[in-house]
Amino acid sequence: MIIVMNADSTQVDVDRVLHRVEQQGLIGLPIDHEARRVVEVQGVNGKFDRVGLEADPMVDQVVDSAGPMLAADRKPGDATFEVPLGEHATIGAQKLAIIAGPCCVESKTQLLEIAAAAKEAGAVALRGGAFKPRTSPYSFQGHGEQGLEWLALAREKTGLAIVTEVMRCEHVDLVARYADVLQIGSRNMHHTHLLAAAGAQSKPVLLKRGWSATLDEFLQAAEYVMLEGNRNVILCERGIRTHETYVRNTLALSVVPHVKQVSRLPIIVDPSHGTGRADLVSPMSNAAIACGADGLLVEIQRSDTRAWTDAAQSLDPAEFNTLIAALRPFAAAAKRTV
Ligand code: PEP
Ligand code: MN
Repeated sequence: MIIVMNADSTQVDVDRVLHRVEQQGLIGLPIDHEARRVVEVQGVNGKFDRVGLEADPMVDQVVDSAGPMLAADRKPGDATFEVPLGEHATIGAQKLAIIAGPCCVESKTQLLEIAAAAKEAGAVALRGGAFKPRTSPYSFQGHGEQGLEWLALAREKTGLAIVTEVMRCEHVDLVARYADVLQIGSRNMHHTHLLAAAGAQSKPVLLKRGWSATLDEFLQAAEYVMLEGNRNVILCERGIRTHETYVRNTLALSVVPHVKQVSRLPIIVDPSHGTGRADLVSPMSNAAIACGADGLLVEIQRSDTRAWTDAAQSLDPAEFNTLIAALRPFAAAAKRTV
């Protein structure tokens, strides 16, 4: 049982509620987040006086479990939150947000070349990992702060917003100094301390779904960010791990229309990690936009060199241009613009 306190409740109100809970022979555990105060009640039995607690003027609601509680809860008629992507773009409004760039930042030249191509094709943000989560500790781990500096340079030259991953709590401030959007990757979706640290700073957060996370776990992870006061969360479906082997991941597009029913957070789709195959990226991008996604996260590489990481799923600039052209009628059908 969770007792949700009013937004303007004080410690005195929480103490009164705790006292009432204890009078019933139960244990109340106060849980304080920047944006919401709750009391979790342990040991609830059939005699729990719910009505009495609901009558307290400082109690907002009493719910059976924390599962359905969402800071971005959507009611009929509610619009999707519009989240800024740097100074010139947003995500969640009518215009789709196309975020494109290399899997990892390899060099200044590579990044600037890809950034220019992404911009020309119509992207509004540049992605690229300076800190890379790699399966093997012997693989390239990213250029770190040097990569962030090149990303900032690419923003200066193109005006594109910068989306880049943060993997450690102690790097949140560093990454937030350079990036416009902090990405939290699939492997870290369950890292609640990192989620809270990203929620305690002011830049928007792009949260990728854990590859074995249920949709509820995904939405609850977003909740960790929002409860620290940062409402600017962008969800990203990037595929889940199944028994299939013809693709790297199974792109679970049905979460998109479902999220549109339950949450006001914008949701984008990453068809690159979602398939692992360059030939499937464009058709799955079309499908993502057709089912209501607010944007795409696409990996691109140079035309003359294979990317250091995730080359098999990366498009070259010409292929990316073709993807955007093919997307237009699907965007129009979904009443969106590219
Ligand atoms: C990425 O987008 O660079 C990435 C590592 O993706 P994911 O966290 O979805 O695996
Ligand atoms: Mn990648």
